[in-house]
Amino acid sequence: MELLATPTQSLSLGDLTILGIPITHILITTQAGVRNHCLLVAYNPLRPEQHDPSCQKSISTCQCNWEAAWWDGLAHHYLHPDFPPSIKDMLVKLENSPVRGVTTACRLQVIDVIREWRVFEMEDDIKEDALKKVRDHKGLRSL
Ligand SMILES: [Zn+2]
Repeated sequence: MELLATPTQSLSLGDLTILGIPITHILITTQAGVRNHCLLVAYNPLRPEQHDPSCQKSISTCQCNWEAAWWDGLAHHYLHPDFPPSIKDMLVKLENSPVRGVTTACRLQVIDVIREWRVFEMEDDIKEDALKKVRDHKGLRSL
């Protein structure tokens, strides 16, 4: 896991020689995969097709307000280059941040979908997959 957090822009040629091409390849593609996933999530706020029946507003107004709050607050937090939040931080923040123009019932409904789709957890899935590849590679080498 520590290896996956290595800033690849500071890898020297010597580091690459030590790591070897297969491990370096896993490292670089995993970091790019996580980065692309985060950008995709940040740029595509979830737009639920239905909202809570208790909501007095039209679904499009609800979606617009949700989208504005997502972009103005959550995405900035999520993409922070120095202090990226953990998956738990993101879910806690979502649950505890009221969104202007979106009822609590509507907001919680979206959060349920986000949890169900493992939107934030997908980052961990990508890293787990990379670790499995590293283990498989090491296993092959020790044969
Ligand atoms: Zn609503």
